[in-house]
Parts: sequence; structure tokens; C-alpha cells
Amino acid sequence: MIKDNYTRIKEKIGDAATLIAVTKYHTAEQAVEAYEAGVRHFGENRPEGFLEKKKALPEDAIVHFIGTLQSRKVKQIIDDMHYLHSLDRESVAKKIEQYSEHTVKCFIQVNVSGEDSKHGLTPEEVPEFLERLSKYKKVEVIGLMTMAPNTDDRSLISDVFRKLSELKDELAENNHDNIQIKELSMGMSNDYDVALEYGATFVRVGSKIMGSR
Ligand SMILES: *Cc1c(COP(=O)(O)O)cnc(C)c1O
Repeated sequence: MIKDNYTRIKEKIGDAATLIAVTKYHTAEQAVEAYEAGVRHFGENRPEGFLEKKKALPEDAIVHFIGTLQSRKVKQIIDDMHYLHSLDRESVAKKIEQYSEHTVKCFIQVNVSGEDSKHGLTPEEVPEFLERLSKYKKVEVIGLMTMAPNTDDRSLISDVFRKLSELKDELAENNHDNIQIKELSMGMSNDYDVALEYGATFVRVGSKIMGSR
């Protein structure tokens, strides 16, 4: 089941993007099953789940932190965290700088749709935030992340992904060693196909790979 799902989506994506299987609603055993089906990139949104999956999976599995991270939780997971998709606060960058022994690849989370329920910076806030991040050398900013509204209206979803892609292009010229805005983390089970049309390079797919919770 997981294997069929993963193989089908992986084929659709080809080399265009890294496919992250989001295992946040599933057990460590199911994550191991996904590993055996070929998954190497996993997504978790809570420190507990992150550590549990990291421990259960073989060494070469990469677990991405895709949820909101409180700065006081950074220390707990930093040794195993190589990708953070939700950076939107300087306090988190400060803790990474303080506790990490390696650089952490970070996406800036942008609330493109402007919904109250969503985390992230407004597009207008991003340039100034990048300036502030330039002094945290263990924070390696590689791109932008967003979540589209939960809707069947494909044109609304397209708007959000197009705007993130345009913002990436605007920010591409950057004069800091630790900031290179090249990657786009966008697209989930219901909209990863749209995200790919707009240049997603990391897609985060949960239920369509792992099954509904
Ligand atoms: C849960 C989650 C996903 C995956 O959601 P699905 O709809 O199950 O594919 C992707 N990104 C983030 C940030 C999530 O929290």
C-alpha cells in the first residue's frame, strides 16, 4: 500500500523535486515500512514524533522538521535536524546558532495566503528577516516554504504558489554567504501537482503516501 503510493507519486515527480513522506500521523513502524518502500526523506511536525521516527529509522533517513518549532525545543532535536521548513522567528535562529554543531538547512515560512490560521512571515517581511539572519552562520537559508489554502479552488492554490515562486526570484540575488534562496518547499497531498507546475523542489506528502490517519 505505502509502496504503491510512494512509487506512483515518485514517478509523477521524477527528478523535479525531493519527495518528503510526512509521517506525523503514523507510527514508527509505518515509517519503517515507508523506508523499506524506498522513502529516504521523512517529515514530522512535533519534536516528540521527530525524535521517535529518527530513532526507529536507519541512519541514512533524513527527517525534516516541517512544523512550528518553539525556540525552547530547538536544543532537544538539533543534533538530528538537518532541514527546518518553518523558520519565521529570530529566536529559533539564535538557538540553532547556540546549540548546533552543524549547519541547518532552513526554509523561511511565508504566509502567502494571509490566513490567520497560518504561520509564517508576510512576503513583505522576508527581506528584512533575511538581513537579520545573516549573522547566524549555522543557519543556512536555502529557500522558501508555504502552505496553500485548504480549498478545491485550483486557481487560489495556483496564486499562492506563483507568488512564492516570484518572491524566490526577487530574493535570489543575495549578498550573504549563508543565504541562497533557491529551493521551494510547497505542495501537499491535495496540491503537490499544482506546486510542481510552479517550480516546487521539495514536496511534503502525507496522506497520499501513508494513508489517512
Ligand atoms: C501535515 C503536513 C503536510 C502533509 O499533509 P497531507 O495533506 O497529509 O499531505 C505537509 N506539510 C505540512 C507543513 C504539514 O503539517
